[in-house]
Amino acid sequence: MLDPDFLLCELLTVPSDVAIRAAAEISGCEACSADAELPFDWVLADAMGRPGMFEFILAAPVRCPLCHRPVTEKTLVDRVVGIEVSV
Ligand SMILES: [Zn+2]
Repeated sequence: MLDPDFLLCELLTVPSDVAIRAAAEISGCEACSADAELPFDWVLADAMGRPGMFEFILAAPVRCPLCHRPVTEKTLVDRVVGIEVSV
C-alpha cells in the first residue's frame, strides 16, 4: 500500500514581498519573450528558499516587468541571472 501523503505536494503561500522579489528576477513572460521557458514557480522556489515538492500560491498577483500581463505560478518566464544591468 502506498502512503497517500507521500504523493501530496505541500501548499505554500508566497508572501507578496517575496513574490515581488521573484518578479524582479524575471525579464519577460511567455507572452512577450521567446526565451521564456522557466515556470515562475521555479523562481518562487528559489526566492522562498524552499526547493522541492511544493505547490506555490501567490498571495498577490504579480505582473511581467516588460508587458505588464499578470504572471501566475505556472506562467513561463525568462529569468535575469546575475547583477542588475542599470547604467
Ligand atoms: Zn511579459
